[in-house]
Parts: sequence; C-alpha cells; structure tokens
Amino acid sequence: EPFRLRSCVQDVLERLESVIRQQKAEIRIEMPDEGLQLTGDRFYWTQVLFNLVENALKQNPRSGLKVRVGATRDERGVTLWVADDGVGIPNQDLQHIFRRFYRVEKHHSQEEIKGTGLGLSIVKRAIEAHGGTVDVSSTPGEDTRFTIHIPAAEEQVLVEKMEAEQSLRPAS
Ligand code: ATP
Ligand code: MG
Repeated sequence: EPFRLRSCVQDVLERLESVIRQQKAEIRIEMPDEGLQLTGDRFYWTQVLFNLVENALKQNPRSGLKVRVGATRDERGVTLWVADDGVGIPNQDLQHIFRRFYRVEKHHSQEEIKGTGLGLSIVKRAIEAHGGTVDVSSTPGEDTRFTIHIPAAEEQVLVEKMEAEQSLRPAS
C-alpha cells in the first residue's frame, strides 16, 4: 500500500511534540510540494524516522537545535535524510554506530544520556529489509546526517505512472 511520506513525518513530530517544545528545537521539513509516496510498511517507516529524529533531539539536550528532515526522488529512487547541527559523532565511532547496543562513550564531564543502543540497529534492519542503504556522516556542530537511499522499485514507478495519468485526465 503506497502512503505519503509527509504523513509519517507528521506522526513522528506529533509523538515528539513535547520534547520539541521543551528544547525549542527548530524542525525543518524539506520535501517536494507535490508530496512523495512510499511503498511498503508504513509502521516501519514511521519507526525509522522516529528513531533518527529522537536521536537528534536526545543527544543534544540544548535549546534551539536545528533538525532537518528531507526527501527527494529521482529515477534511481528515493533519498531521505535527517540532519542536525548538534555535537555530532566522533569519527572513530561512525563505523560502529549501527551495531546493536553500541553507544558513544561520553566524557566524564558530560551528563549521561539514557538509551539502550538499539535504535540505529533497528533503522538499519528496516532499511535493508526494504532493499535500501543507510549512511551517516558528521561534522560536529554543523551537520550530523543520516542518509537513506531506497532504489526505485517497479511498484513505485507504477504508482507514479498512475498518478501522472490521473493528472492528465481532463476534469469532468
Ligand atoms: P535507543 O535508541 O535504543 O534508545 P540510543 O539512542 O543510545 O538508544 P541508537 O539510537 O542506536 O541508541 O544510537 C547509538 C548511539 O549513536 C547513541 O547512543 C549516540 O551516542 C549516537 N548518536 C546517534 N544519533 C546521534 C546524533 N544525531 N547525534 C549525536 N550522536 C548520535
Ligand atoms: Mg536512539
């Protein structure tokens, strides 16, 4: 069943509404206006986005964090990203971050942030189950970014074709 990505993002932001308000976080959604449809398990997609946005907020418990959630589509497929301008992830941790229970060791001076270290391993599993990939890059304080790529599926192309045909039909 195809569904709108934007509605997933809205669900996620609703679930995190009180944290967003408390932290005065600024959330920007960068998506094509005409909307973007995905196929597959809507519950999975919502969970994936939730885990990424929750991480951005939780790892940066300061005021005014900027979080960007975006998506584009081209002939190769769909690309999604969640980016923040928070503390970031040290280089040596990047390659391990998707492992179950892996969490970045904090300096003694920093307050301990709670978590089990499972969120990202679930993200990776869900994405790979959809034939996609997930990557991370981090420039501390500037741009810590999780990028998901889902290759174009027959199914997806079909949905777009149907939509295009419908929009060509004269209104009667
Ligand atoms: P859980 O998601 O199970 O509650 P968690 O958030 O600690 O626990 P993951 O979501 O798997 O676990 O994330 C693993 C680790 O990656 C985090 O503990 C944190 O150190 C680091 N991390 C993830 N996202 C970010 C981010 N946006 N900014 C900085 N560090 C991050
Ligand atoms: Mg997490």
